[in-house]
Parts: sequence; C-alpha cells; structure tokens
Amino acid sequence: MSLNRRDFVKLCTGTVAGFGVAQMFHPAIHEALAETLTGQRPPVIWLQGQGCTGCSVSLLNNVNPSIADVLLKIISLEFHPTVMGSEGVQAIDHIRAIAKQFKGQFFVVVEGAIPLAKDGKFCIIGEAGHKEISMVDIMKELAPNAAAMLAIGTCAAYGGIPAAKGSETESLGVSAFLKSCNIATPVVNIPGCPPQPDWIVGTLAVALKFINELGMEKGLAEVVKLLDAQGRPKPFFGRNVHENCPFLKDFDEGKFSANFNEKEGCRYDLGCKGPAAYCDSFERKWNGGVNWCVANATCIGCTEPDFPDGKSPFYANK
Ligand code: SF4
Ligand code: SF4
Repeated sequence: MSLNRRDFVKLCTGTVAGFGVAQMFHPAIHEALAETLTGQRPPVIWLQGQGCTGCSVSLLNNVNPSIADVLLKIISLEFHPTVMGSEGVQAIDHIRAIAKQFKGQFFVVVEGAIPLAKDGKFCIIGEAGHKEISMVDIMKELAPNAAAMLAIGTCAAYGGIPAAKGSETESLGVSAFLKSCNIATPVVNIPGCPPQPDWIVGTLAVALKFINELGMEKGLAEVVKLLDAQGRPKPFFGRNVHENCPFLKDFDEGKFSANFNEKEGCRYDLGCKGPAAYCDSFERKWNGGVNWCVANATCIGCTEPDFPDGKSPFYANK
C-alpha cells in the first residue's frame, strides 16, 4: 500500500477510507515503513530524567505494532535504562560512541524532567571515569549533535509533576532546558501522563517517513509543520476533548453525573478538565481501544503545559 503525505496525516486520525478506528493507523504505517526503510534504522537514545517510568511502560504496552517490532524493526534503540541489558561505564561509552558515529543523525528521546538544582545532582544517569553524569550533563552533551529530540510525556515536554508547586528541584521540560542553553535542536513534544503509545509510535513513524522521503533536514521541517503552538503533533493533539466528547449533549442539556457511580451524564461537576484539554483519547481510546479517561472517571488535562498545577484540583471545577 502506498501513502502520500496527506494520507499519512489523515491516517493518524483514523480517517483514511478502509481503516476503521479499531485499526487506527497501525497496519498502514507498518506497511509504509516496510516499504521505505531499507534496513537502516535510526539510532535512538532514550534518556530517563525525573519521572516515574510510566511513559516507558505505556510504550511497552503498545499492541500493534508490538513493542518488539517497534524496537527491532522500526528504530534502533541504543540506550534505555529500563530495558537494556548493559549498565555502568559500558552503557555510557555506548551512548558516546553512537553520538559520535551518527552525529546529526541520531534521535534523543527524553522521558522525565531535567532538574537544575544542586548542580543537577537530583538526577544522575550514570558515571564514567569515577565521575557522576547528571541529566543536565548528558543533555548538554547530546542535544547539540542530535537530529531532533522527542520529549515523551508531560514531565519531559513541559516540566509536569516534577516542576509542580512545592518542587525544590528547579525542573524544566526539554524545550525550556534547550532554550536556557541556547541549543537550537528541534523538539517534538508528545505529552500525556502518560502518553498514549500510538502518539509515540505514530509520531516516530511519520517522522521517519518524511525523513526517508525528503532527507533529514527537509523531513524534519515537514514534521515541525505538523506541530501546534505547544510543540505537539496536531494529528494527535489538534482536537479539543470536550468538543468531541460523547457526553457533550449531556453538558449542553445540563445533565451532570453527581458521583463516579453514575455512568450517565457529563462529568463536569466531578472536575472534568476536557474543555481545556487537547488529545484524541475520545476516539483512539486506551488499552487497545477498551476505554478512555472520561468513560470511567474524568479528563485531568494531562496533555496540557499547565498540568498539574493549572488542572488542580482534579476532582472539582471552580
Ligand atoms: S465529560 Fe468532560 S469532556 Fe465530556 S462533555 Fe462533560 S466536561 Fe466535556
Ligand atoms: S482525555 Fe484528558 S486525561 Fe485523558 S489523555 Fe486526554 S488530556 Fe489526558
């Protein structure tokens, strides 16, 4: 199956004829990748800063393509603290060897925020030569030579929970960190707490498709054109949750759930933040299409730059 660029973007939203919501984009992305990737898989270095590893767990739950296919056929995962076998100096040496060999051609995925306080010592990612390497150190080392950075999850995209009120770690998201260091490497934000795995795999697939067709520089320029003002891919984050919610009719008619046991009625009175949130969970759903946030609880606005402080309290609307 051959796809043009317009189809590819539509495919992320499940609107290409012949592909139902249950299938979403995966079969065709897989085919497109099989057609276009010629054995050269882009090296990816996955760094974990201040976070809970939930974004990795979400990605590991990806159903179709399987996580094994993502890691073994789509990308070349060179470093990931949770799933890799190597450790210690050997692992750090490998990061440096990859960054040198693929200068300007490798991708850095960041999960978690970057803490600046105490000389970066709140997050040590390894050591070499008996010297601790902080998240700040490795970001400064890798970011200028990476083709692009993917900030996975709201902590990496905007600071998220590690940067919430009361934090003493002076945490930043990737874009803010790079800006503070005058590093101009492009950043794609894939927020969510955690992100839906399709958002991660789909963004990678679209980026690889463009890069394969147009070369690194022009391909990345096309990816950047897909981003909204918050640095998020519009195919996944371009629509408002409330405007597309199955309970919108109830909202308009003033029918509200009084508690979480009431499955009928809009959840606004329970604190739903859907009116100020952008993602496609209402359609893509979670857990292989089984359910989504608002079906059993509320939207907490986890994909937004002001999460969590601006979305708190989660279970009340003022
Ligand atoms: S449940 Fe939330 S997102 Fe849905 S209509 Fe009500 S307020 Fe909007
Ligand atoms: S619907 Fe709300 S809580 Fe669910 S993923 Fe989207 S922004 Fe986050």
